[in-house]
Amino acid sequence: MSKYRVGILGATGTVGQRFCQLLEDHPQFEITALAASDRSVGKPYFEACPWKLKTKMPEGVRNIEVAPITPPLDCDIVFSSLPSSVARETEEAFARDGYPVISNSSCYRMEEDVPLLIPEINHEHLALIEIQQQNRGFDRGFIVTNPNCAVMSFAPPLAALDRAFGVRDTVITTLQAVSGAGYPGVSSMDIIDNVLPYIAGEEPKAETEAQKILGEFNGRSIDKADFTVSAHCFRVNVVDGHTASVRVKLDRPATLEDVIEAMKSFPGLGLYSSPEEFIVVSEEPSRPQPRLDRNNGDGMSITVGRILPDNIFDYGFVALSHNTVRGAAGAAVLNAELLVDRKII
Ligand code: NAP
Repeated sequence: MSKYRVGILGATGTVGQRFCQLLEDHPQFEITALAASDRSVGKPYFEACPWKLKTKMPEGVRNIEVAPITPPLDCDIVFSSLPSSVARETEEAFARDGYPVISNSSCYRMEEDVPLLIPEINHEHLALIEIQQQNRGFDRGFIVTNPNCAVMSFAPPLAALDRAFGVRDTVITTLQAVSGAGYPGVSSMDIIDNVLPYIAGEEPKAETEAQKILGEFNGRSIDKADFTVSAHCFRVNVVDGHTASVRVKLDRPATLEDVIEAMKSFPGLGLYSSPEEFIVVSEEPSRPQPRLDRNNGDGMSITVGRILPDNIFDYGFVALSHNTVRGAAGAAVLNAELLVDRKII
C-alpha cells in the first residue's frame, strides 16, 4: 500500500522535530514537505533545524528544502505545530485548499465545529468534521485538534472516573516541563533552581478543554461535560513530561479498588501508535516520576499513581504524560491514524 504524503508546519520546532522522529518508518505516512518561518525557508532541513532529540535526524528529512507555511505543499495531509499567532490563518488556508489539517495549536480547539480529540475517549466527535465543512465552506479539507499538553495528562484518568462514577469538581496543579515552552523556551536563568508559578494562557486551557473532550456529540455540536476544573499551572525544572496533581469529587460513591479498576480497565485502541496500555496505574508510592515514567508505552501511555482517598474531595491522584509525544506530535499522529482507519482520509 502506498503511504500518505505528509507535510509539517513548524517543522524545525520542538514538536516539529518530534513529528520527524515519530514518522520515520511509519507504515502509513511519509514526510514529503517541511515548512517553517522565513528564518528557515530555502534551507535544507538539517541546516535550518536545531535538532535536539537523542535519536539522529532521520535521513529522509535531512535534505528536504524548508518551504514557507502557505499552500500548496507537496503532501496529502498537513500536521501543524505552529505558534498560535500564525496558526489560525495558516491552518484555515490549508483546510480551504483541501488539506486535512491536524493541529497542535490552541486556536481552534474550543471552536464549536472543530473536534478536540483523544481517540480512546471521544472518536465519535469526528462527526463534527462534516458540520465544519458545511459551516466554513471547506470542500474536502478540515481541521482537527489535539489537547493542550497538560490536559493530556489528566483528561484520560478523569474520563475513566467520569464514565464509571461521574466527575463533579476537580482541583488540579500541573508541574510542566521546559520543553512545553518550545525552543529555546524558558531562560535557564529563570528555571534552574526554581519553580515558576505562572505559564501565560495555560490555566484557562486546563480549566476548559477536558469538559469538551469528555462531552457528548448531540448531532450538531458537543454538549460539554458539566464539571468544574480549578487549575494552577507551574513550570518546573524537568526537560520532558508534564505531571498533574489532581483532587476530584465524584457523583457516585466508589471504593478505592473501584477507582483503580476504572483507570486500569479503560480501553485503548488498536491503532499503530496506540500504546498497549492507555492508562498505566503504578501502585508504587513514589511514582509517577517524569524521568522514570514519561516513556511508558513509547511516550503514548498516561501513567497514574498515588491514587488515594482525599480528606476534602473524594480521591486524589497524580498523572503524567510525555508532553511532546502524547501531548503533541504523537497525539496528532494518532489522530491521523484514526482518520485513516475511519476512512475520513
Ligand atoms: P517552537 O519550538 O518554538 O517551534 C515553533 C515552530 O514554528 C518552528 O518551526 C518555527 O520556525 C515556526 N514558526 C514560528 N513563528 C513562525 C512564523 N511567524 N511563520 C512561520 N513559522 C513560524 O514551538 P513548539 O514547542 O514546537 O510548539 C509549536 C506549537 O505546538 C505551539 O502552538 C504550541 O503551543 C503547541 N504545542 C507544543 C507542545 C510542546 O510540548 N512543546 C505541546 C502541545 C502543543 P523557525 O524555526 O523557522 O523559526
